[in-house]
Amino acid sequence: MENYYTADRKFYLENKDLQEIVRDLENDFQDRNAEALHSYAEACTWYDMVLKNAGDICANFIAPRAAAVDEQGPTYRDGLVSWAPETQENMKVLSEAGYLGGTLPRRYGGLNLPVTVNTIIVEMVSQADASLMNLFGLQDIAMTINKFGDETQKTRVLPKFCTGEVSGSMALTEPDAGSDLQAVSLRAIEKDGQWYLDGVKRFITNGCGEVSLVLARSEEGSKGGRGLSLFLYERYRDKNLIVRRIENKHGIHGSPTCELQFNMAKAELVGRRKFGLIKYVMSLMNGARLAVAAQALGIAQAAFDEAMKYANEREQFGHTVVHFPAVYQMLKKMQAEIETTRMLVYQTAWFVDLEDMYERRSQRGEDVRSELKYANAMAGFLTPLTKFTATEMANRAAYDAVQIHGGCGYMKDFPVERLARDARITNIYEGTTQLQVVAAIGGVINNVLAQEWENLQKFNIKELSAEKERVLGFGEQLQAIVSEVTTVKDRDFHDYVANYLVAIASIAYRNVLFLPVAEQFAGKRELFRFFLNESAVRIDYLIARIRMLKKVYGVSIEELKRAFVKGR
Ligand SMILES: Cc1cc2nc3c(=O)[nH]c(=O)nc-3n(C[C@H](O)[C@H](O)[C@H](O)COP(=O)(O)OP(=O)(O)OC[C@H]3O[C@@H](n4cnc5c(N)ncnc54)[C@H](O)[C@@H]3O)c2cc1C
Repeated sequence: MENYYTADRKFYLENKDLQEIVRDLENDFQDRNAEALHSYAEACTWYDMVLKNAGDICANFIAPRAAAVDEQGPTYRDGLVSWAPETQENMKVLSEAGYLGGTLPRRYGGLNLPVTVNTIIVEMVSQADASLMNLFGLQDIAMTINKFGDETQKTRVLPKFCTGEVSGSMALTEPDAGSDLQAVSLRAIEKDGQWYLDGVKRFITNGCGEVSLVLARSEEGSKGGRGLSLFLYERYRDKNLIVRRIENKHGIHGSPTCELQFNMAKAELVGRRKFGLIKYVMSLMNGARLAVAAQALGIAQAAFDEAMKYANEREQFGHTVVHFPAVYQMLKKMQAEIETTRMLVYQTAWFVDLEDMYERRSQRGEDVRSELKYANAMAGFLTPLTKFTATEMANRAAYDAVQIHGGCGYMKDFPVERLARDARITNIYEGTTQLQVVAAIGGVINNVLAQEWENLQKFNIKELSAEKERVLGFGEQLQAIVSEVTTVKDRDFHDYVANYLVAIASIAYRNVLFLPVAEQFAGKRELFRFFLNESAVRIDYLIARIRMLKKVYGVSIEELKRAFVKGR
């Protein structure tokens, strides 16, 4: 029987050192209750079992239902939304297996998994049915409540998430506040110690769910992010939220996207007033961005597997099409991109685990300031870098997978048609690719990766020493071109080339991650060398492009805009 917990996923997970993280998560292995883990070895065996079971459910229960979910989608009648029957079955199976509270603490009924392990479950669910990940992945809401809610809120809501009794949504976007969440205008009004929400939210995934985290303007007359707070809305405690409609979408059909009307709906403040956007939503979105990166990776894997299958079955000119260089070129690029993106996704998840661990230790009074600062910086930088990389990659992979299928790829009879539609949303929601670049560019300019390059420098590489020099060279090239860009004193020029700089950082860093793996495992060297050589050409090309723009336009890059701007 097929299992999505493949040798590759296992290999890259086992490559991560989770020892310190797990020890801390498991209270130094001192807990004595029935579910407690007593050693790192026991934890690893258990994670392996959890992942194998999830891989089995994904491959053999969820994936076979994906086409039916896509075909039917949710239904809307008189303000009530129902998931497709197959989606309901999928969620039931996942909740019965205990996966709905993956990273939540055991005292609320969760599995207390490290983010790294849970991210692999998200990836596998997405490979099986990307739209299901939107419901399953909304656990990030529960994690935000766990992080910032008070104990009453946690004990009331979190166990319900773990049993599947409730599902959630995060209600941020409004008609006039999309990428720019500082423009949120839905009002939060306090009367006699009770908060009420009033206004409209748009494009809310599973907005019909029982629990919503809502970003609202609590400071009347304020402008910008500092007037916003985060609220917990529970449908089973208040009936003044109306689902006005669900959207008719291009992809992820299984996930309802709702327009919500709050009519003085009762809600509770989460955490501190005015910290809604600047602290809590930032944390919530970072978790969701990593989940979307894993979603994109899962879609790309599914697209690659379908393309491989088809290329080996379809015959033209007397050969299966896999024999044509034009076809295996696409497969090779997909393989290298998927594998290196997987390393990046797991690395980001690992830094999020480190960040969480140092936060817990710091709260316990340990002096881990410098470690926490570093983990914060890396998680904060890698999250948008990873979403940028994985979601653009998934779109290219799905596009090529359709191409390999020829005309069949355009037909609903073949899964790649759905995968290409599902991939398309990943680089739009949770912040578009352009906004990921905005979030990551500061880290590129300020060389957040400096320590990573230093670590590589010290790493004892014997077999691949020439390759190590080349990878170190990528870091030098990146720093050199960053310096050249920053000498141009023009904000538009910086913004215009920012995506090229972020792309170079992504390519270079994936080589940093791949090199030690290839050094250790000879079986990975062929793919590593392929990626390294491709990387060198791509980095040279991106640098040449930036230099051309600097030379031809420099401070007058804004001229390029003129032809397009109408009116204001
Ligand atoms: C299917 C679906 C599900 C969604 N689920 C949710 C959800 O659960 N909760 C929620 O709150 N929201 C959700 N959203 C909303 C989603 O997060 C937004 O659509 C997204 O952030 C982009 O906002 P926008 O659509 O208003 O685009 P706009 O912000 O209007 O962007 C238009 C274009 O301008 C570009 N742009 C904007 N600002 C900048 C800038 N500063 N620099 C460079 N380029 C820029 C964008 O990249 C884009 O290309 C969902 C959307 C969809 C389609």
